[in-house]
Amino acid sequence: MHFNILTIFPEMFPGTLGGGVVGRALERGIWSYDVINIRDFAYNNYGSVDDEQFGGGKGMVMRPDVLGAALDSIEKRGRVIYFSPRGPRLEQSIVRDFAAAPDATYTLLCGRYEGIDQRIIEEYDIMELSIGDYILSGGEIAAQVFVDSTVRLIDNVVGGGTDATANESFEIGGLEWPLYTRPSAWRGRNVPEVLLSGHHGNIERWRKQQSDEITKERRPDLIKEK
Ligand code: SAH
Repeated sequence: MHFNILTIFPEMFPGTLGGGVVGRALERGIWSYDVINIRDFAYNNYGSVDDEQFGGGKGMVMRPDVLGAALDSIEKRGRVIYFSPRGPRLEQSIVRDFAAAPDATYTLLCGRYEGIDQRIIEEYDIMELSIGDYILSGGEIAAQVFVDSTVRLIDNVVGGGTDATANESFEIGGLEWPLYTRPSAWRGRNVPEVLLSGHHGNIERWRKQQSDEITKERRPDLIKEK
């Protein structure tokens, strides 16, 4: 999988993507990325990429001529995605779709300031994606969320195979059950007996029941979606 990342902060990459299982997958060549510095396509010698909003109002907007030149410099763009609070929210089911093509190329546009000129979205048939109902100061963190959540679903990225990624919250039709490890007794708190029993049927039933309860309590919306 390949990602072209357009940003005015190239030093922010690979950032968190350089660590853990996703970082190892980068070293192993399972995924790769190019960072395109939007400032290289600035319209003046000061490196400016933004301008005042037509219609007035506070805050600057990234210019379409600059972003267009940056996008045109990419040989193979694939699907172009702009991270924006206005897009549909990224969810595990959407992530799965992106991960389903391990040879895909995605071009990720990280906004700054108030955002980008609307015409660039239309001209390049850009897909908008939000990572949640809050405002970030830029799209770089959103891009890292996108790459991390997508790459970890590619085969052999997470240890334990597809079992490990299939047995997680949202994949199991709800939230995960409580997790425990050693020591079995800690500060007077004991690990539930059933988990020490070695009885796989009972363990599975307990986990399912815990998962159902927690989901019902915390995220009833996930149950309705089932
Ligand atoms: N004026 C915009 C917010 C701009 S925030 C609005 O009101 O909708 C600046 C940049 O941060 C955006 O261009 C976008 O790329 C990124 N960003 C902010 N919040 C985000 C979110 N929830 N999901 C994805 N990207 C986000």
